Amino acid sequence: MSIPAQSLHSASLESALKHFFGHECFRFEQRPIIERVLKNKDVLVVMPTGGGKSLCYQLPALLRAGVTIVVSPLIALMQDQVTALKDNGVNATFLNSTLAIDEARSRQSALLAGDIKLLYVAPERLFTPSFLDFLGQLGQKVGISTFAIDEAHCVSEWGHDFRPDYRQLFQLKQRYPQIPIIALTATATQRVRTDIVQQLRLADPEVYVSSFNRQNLYYEVSQKSKQPYAQLLQTIKQHQDTEGSGIIYCLSRKRVNEVAAQLQQDGIVALPYHAGLSAEEREANQTKFIRDDIQIIVATIAFGMGINKPDVRFVIHYDLPRNLESYYQEAGRAGRDGEAARCTIFFSWGDVHTVKYLISQKTDPDEQRIAQQQLSQIINYSESSVCRRKIQLGYFGEPFEAPCDNCDNCLNPAPIENWTVEAQKFLSCIYRCGQRFGMNHVIDVLRGSRKKRILELSHDQLSTYGIGADRSADEWRLLCRALIHQGYLDETTDGYSVLKLNADSNRVLKKQVSVEIPVSQRVTALDIAEPTASTRKAASVELTPTDSSLMSQLRSLRKKLADEQSVPPYIVFSDASLRQMAQNKPQTLAAFSKISGVGNRKLTQYGEEFTQTIHQFCQANGLEVEAAEEAIAPIPKPTIETEITATQLTTYELYQSGLSLPEIALKRNVRLSTINGHMAKLIETGYQVALDKLVSVERQSVINRAIAEVGPHSLRNIREAVGETYDYQEITLVRAAWEAKHSEPPK
Ligand code: ADP
Ligand code: ZN
Repeated sequence: MSIPAQSLHSASLESALKHFFGHECFRFEQRPIIERVLKNKDVLVVMPTGGGKSLCYQLPALLRAGVTIVVSPLIALMQDQVTALKDNGVNATFLNSTLAIDEARSRQSALLAGDIKLLYVAPERLFTPSFLDFLGQLGQKVGISTFAIDEAHCVSEWGHDFRPDYRQLFQLKQRYPQIPIIALTATATQRVRTDIVQQLRLADPEVYVSSFNRQNLYYEVSQKSKQPYAQLLQTIKQHQDTEGSGIIYCLSRKRVNEVAAQLQQDGIVALPYHAGLSAEEREANQTKFIRDDIQIIVATIAFGMGINKPDVRFVIHYDLPRNLESYYQEAGRAGRDGEAARCTIFFSWGDVHTVKYLISQKTDPDEQRIAQQQLSQIINYSESSVCRRKIQLGYFGEPFEAPCDNCDNCLNPAPIENWTVEAQKFLSCIYRCGQRFGMNHVIDVLRGSRKKRILELSHDQLSTYGIGADRSADEWRLLCRALIHQGYLDETTDGYSVLKLNADSNRVLKKQVSVEIPVSQRVTALDIAEPTASTRKAASVELTPTDSSLMSQLRSLRKKLADEQSVPPYIVFSDASLRQMAQNKPQTLAAFSKISGVGNRKLTQYGEEFTQTIHQFCQANGLEVEAAEEAIAPIPKPTIETEITATQLTTYELYQSGLSLPEIALKRNVRLSTINGHMAKLIETGYQVALDKLVSVERQSVINRAIAEVGPHSLRNIREAVGETYDYQEITLVRAAWEAKHSEPPK
């Protein structure tokens, strides 16, 4: 129905992006996706977490007639999205089981009045008879522009969050074949993607797959020291100067409780989260985390789904992650806002042995095999000297050209050394000991230990006894792991970890191959290492001390404004926006409007307070001070031709031919309210309409006064202000004229 997207002015999508969301440019494939949605075509969007999927349906929703229906699995997510949209001045709402009947009804009438652009619903509600009836009315009166299916992988049993309610979504295409569907997911597997297309019956969909490379994340693996808590504390303290939020993942509830309690004792504001806590306590802790009342959440993997917090600055896996895919997802909860963030694994062979033991206790051989394989992947990842990003992306089948310059291995590559002779000593010692012992015993023999057990076994009589005294135990451990890693040695997985030679061990012993291993400084400084300048750089924003102190003030202001409205601070502004403010120090509204993340609404709502704070900061610190201006120059509302649909144009032609609105309705066989809606849109977009002939001048001025008082956003509020003798239709027309006048670009 809408005019093809090719007719868009090339710059107008960008100006709409700035006007509504404050962003300067599109990310990834956002632009082509949006263009395709505007053409009413089905799309599947696969983007990593934090890629910016929501914008792909939110922006088109604002540029087209009718309501976009968003299917979303979690109530918390719906609420979050609606709050964020409202803070950008976009009228959105949700309907779910938490609402009282009255509230749901009033939201429905606002929708039918054409007052709302996006409606979030849970899948289980969609096909109830009463909701279907409501959708029918909505389609009639204001139109449904698109169905957006968020977290679309929930339709697939192959995915990790299968939801039976999502299975019903195939009915959408059956019932509304003409309404396009945009499905969105962060799933990495091909199988789930295929399933989504089939389950939703997408018609000739274009599939957009963005790179899964999260460039802003710094990946590192730290050898877990013998005092892991002290190491954790030190890692966290590196983040405290940036005041960023963090998640610490532990494997057990017990560990979660311990770590959270220890952190509290050390004066760090942290709370636990796991399935053993009551629902209320979990929710309370989560809310405190989202609102920045606490800095850190210590959690089991129960924490994460449904957390939209975009400004998590670090994720630490205190224990081994379960597998590489879940590691990617869990670490990926950091830095959704695109700002630098750091992902750390604390790796220890002790933990590996624990997991191996647990695996050996499994009764199902298939399960055991899969778990074993997943463990090997994590060990490979952790022990590798290859770019971490390359390993992760490779796992998802995405090629990547190392170095990435944002992981420990790329920034501090471990030098490779030839340790063939050491390898031969090690392997022959295993052989001499009869292949019945674990790593530590073999090392004791090599280093000539006088331990009782060695003497009892007469292993001090072996030819390899003491031939490795020149190397530290840590160095031998490193070699042993590298040999296992490279396949020159096996280790039993029955819980005892006995070292066994294999065919490739013999090739080493016969000098047929040489053994090269990465020897990092981590070997000699196994215990707590100071972070290097380069690693620290990636984790924190690079601000001068003055800028940091301004940033800190801006953070407090953001928190204050957020608390006043009971919303999370990131709803007010992202970390990226604050950082830009701290660096550019805008002191006038004009300068403030240039900051990324400042759209029209945020300029009006927050501009004064932020520029004032910055102005005072500059004064107090002897920095250049700019004069304050008088009036706000609004960010111009883009003129986008797709706003007018073909049917609206038809109405306009009939209007121009001299027909009254009721006559047009009659002629076109549609409701008068529909025609009225068309006229409002035409007025708002700047088409010539003689408003005085439609609404008397006196009534116009009453309505205009009401708009000045309560704002243009809610028709209902305007109606309340003018009283019941005014109807929605005339209010809609006058408001359209008001919008047209107030969105004119500044001269
Ligand atoms: P996803 O749903 O893919 O995980 P979101 O839609 O929540 O990601 O977006 C993640 C973050 O990126 C949000 O803070 C959003 O404001 C921001 N964002 C999205 N698109 C852009 C853009 N084009 N420019 C700057 N920031 C963007
Ligand atoms: Zn790298």
